[in-house]
Amino acid sequence: MNVEFYSLLGVILKTEILRVDPVSIDLNKIQKAAKILRDGGLVAFPTETVYGLGADALSPRAVEKIFKVKGRPPDNPLIIHIGDKLELEKLAKNIPQKVEVLIENFWPGPLTIVLQKSSIVPKIVNAGLETVAIRMPSNKIALSLINESKVPIAAPSANISTRPSPTSAKHVINDLNGMIDAIIDGGETNIGVESTVIDLTTTPITLLRPGGVTFEDLQKILGKNNIEKSKYNPDEKIAAAKSPGMKYRHYSPKADVFLVEGKSDRIELKVQEIATNFEKKGYKVGIITINQKHQYQADTVEFIGSDLETIAKNIFKTFRKFDNKDMDIIIMEGVKEKRLGLAIMNRLRKAAKKIIQV
Ligand code: AMP
Ligand code: MG
Repeated sequence: MNVEFYSLLGVILKTEILRVDPVSIDLNKIQKAAKILRDGGLVAFPTETVYGLGADALSPRAVEKIFKVKGRPPDNPLIIHIGDKLELEKLAKNIPQKVEVLIENFWPGPLTIVLQKSSIVPKIVNAGLETVAIRMPSNKIALSLINESKVPIAAPSANISTRPSPTSAKHVINDLNGMIDAIIDGGETNIGVESTVIDLTTTPITLLRPGGVTFEDLQKILGKNNIEKSKYNPDEKIAAAKSPGMKYRHYSPKADVFLVEGKSDRIELKVQEIATNFEKKGYKVGIITINQKHQYQADTVEFIGSDLETIAKNIFKTFRKFDNKDMDIIIMEGVKEKRLGLAIMNRLRKAAKKIIQV
């Protein structure tokens, strides 16, 4: 649908697919992609969290294309990806001391830090805020691309806005083929949910978005009282939000998602009850379970793992798989909000049409 829309505007592109083996990186292909970025083009690339859609962060025209092709609201700021911590000083100012310990423990990796922005960051990148979000990814292809391009890379997830984040090049092709210059296919991403975003301009530090680095690990490094979860409730309209991205519906498959939380045996009964009700009405129902013992009857039942790492890795992929099977309804079991479970539940709640507690 989007490709057609863009072809109407006369901007359809030939998207080049560059296959790169993550264990033996072909530098020629990386350099080709880096040149596209330097020339103001868009390149999707793998990171350890999800695939990112990159543009030269210092070029407002290049960054504008990201918002256009994704259909991303302009008030939802982007994360800037860097390959060397020295870049921090160019992009941010008044950097607090505690950045050091965070970098030492979590970079490169799935931790994004929000700092006061420097004057070189174009307004469009951070939606006119006084702050900028920065991360150094650990994926070798991503690092190589950033370093070869020699510019900081603004990159949100490489999906159409509101759709589930892409964890493989195939997902990016489905959403953005014909709309961007190139896609680096470096296989499936490791973590499967986005980076953790923390705001260092507040005391204590605020967790704005749970992600690949857990709140517990941050507490361990920073001290228990030096970081707190954001009190911002995305359902409230008072959204002079610290992190505007938090207020949007996200990560959603086309089907309506029902999230069932509570005790495991009660979850099993409730999930089946909802599934049966919808099937009686003629809907196609898919169930996503994290408990192999749960016996469900539905059009499709998918067990996506029982440990948090495997669940995180599979969740967006399974949403997309169910979309391809034209499911009308997806019923998903909740997890405990501990460790990576906090990030998983954050994504599930945003994807859900209805949350049912049992
Ligand atoms: P995405 O890259 O699509 O996963 O989304 C980036 C996330 O980082 C969104 O939730 C943004 O709201 C958040 N973010 C980016 N820049 C800032 C900033 N300067 N201050 C607060 N949050 C930010
Ligand atoms: Mg995103």
